[in-house]
Amino acid sequence: MTKTALVCGAGGFIGGHLVKRLKREGFWVRGVDLKFPPFAETEADDFAVGDLRDQSFCRQITDRRFDEVYQLAADMGGAGYIFTGEHDADVMHNSATINLNMLDACQKRNMLGVFYSSSACMYPEHNQTDPNNPNCAEDSAYPANPDSEYGWEKLFSERLYLAYNRNHGMRNRVARYHNIFGPEGTWDGGKEKAPAAVCRKVAQATNGGDVEIWGDGTQTRSFLYIDECLEGSIRLTRSEFEGPVNVGSEEMVTINQLVDIVADIAGKRIHKKHIPGPLGVRGRNSDNRLIEQKLGWKPSATLRSGLEKTYQWIERQVHRNRVAA
Ligand code: NAD
Repeated sequence: MTKTALVCGAGGFIGGHLVKRLKREGFWVRGVDLKFPPFAETEADDFAVGDLRDQSFCRQITDRRFDEVYQLAADMGGAGYIFTGEHDADVMHNSATINLNMLDACQKRNMLGVFYSSSACMYPEHNQTDPNNPNCAEDSAYPANPDSEYGWEKLFSERLYLAYNRNHGMRNRVARYHNIFGPEGTWDGGKEKAPAAVCRKVAQATNGGDVEIWGDGTQTRSFLYIDECLEGSIRLTRSEFEGPVNVGSEEMVTINQLVDIVADIAGKRIHKKHIPGPLGVRGRNSDNRLIEQKLGWKPSATLRSGLEKTYQWIERQVHRNRVAA
């Protein structure tokens, strides 16, 4: 029999890619989002446009049982959206309401379980002050002290999904994503994240020109290519392990190094111009001991290989916009 999947947030970056991946595996897929994917036609068999903050809409889209349910919808963006403080109330209210509604609807429909995408932003700020030695082991989460309201909402929702496991016998799965990037993600407009923003700035720069970087560029991060994010998410969903578990890369770089790699891929000499901007923690890296132990798998692709594909795609978008202007 054909397997079925429900993907909430299917108009977004990771959800859009997840729909494609599940279609390749032969699933019948229903996608749900406020909007269709902006960069490519959805491959979902059925796509419901609507608001998951509306409980009756959540009941409508769960009108049947699905073999797999992925809940990726969230009010989210990069540092320019999450760390300015201007969107705190929306981020908390919107994302928590989505999770409360969806999980309740799935439980009432007797759905087996839901995959939930939490974030490394839930880790305590005090463990991420040293750029060379951040601690993001899963068991370092408590006592909790995320540096953003986005992180606090993720922490609340993680606990919500795991409480439904305990009290309602569900098989919910919780992953903590660390900076996912790739083609067909937001690349301008204020919600883009560092890899996409850097690719755009380098693509727009003239040879020898300036590229603006928020902060001194010595803050560290790791970035995970979209294909490996999907692999980890699907493996976790189909495993006996409920999480929470990191889904991220262990290849930590400074933002300055990230810019250098992208400039090298572009074949451009650029000048890094450091300007004030929202930053987040000083250092963050994935700790992959638990995922390897529980799933017998961990991400292994290099940052450069993912950036090559991402840069090519963003360069095309920049060029297309220039032609259209
Ligand atoms: P995204 O913003 O591209 O996708 C989220 C989607 O949710 C959007 O298409 C948006 O329209 C949809 N949405 C928001 N509010 C909605 C509502 N009320 N009803 C229906 N749909 C709604 O983000 P993404 O990068 O694809 O992230 C997917 C998930 O992974 C999110 O939960 C995010 O917090 C989590 N995550 C992502 C990253 C990353 O680096 N991209 C890192 C950590 C965690």
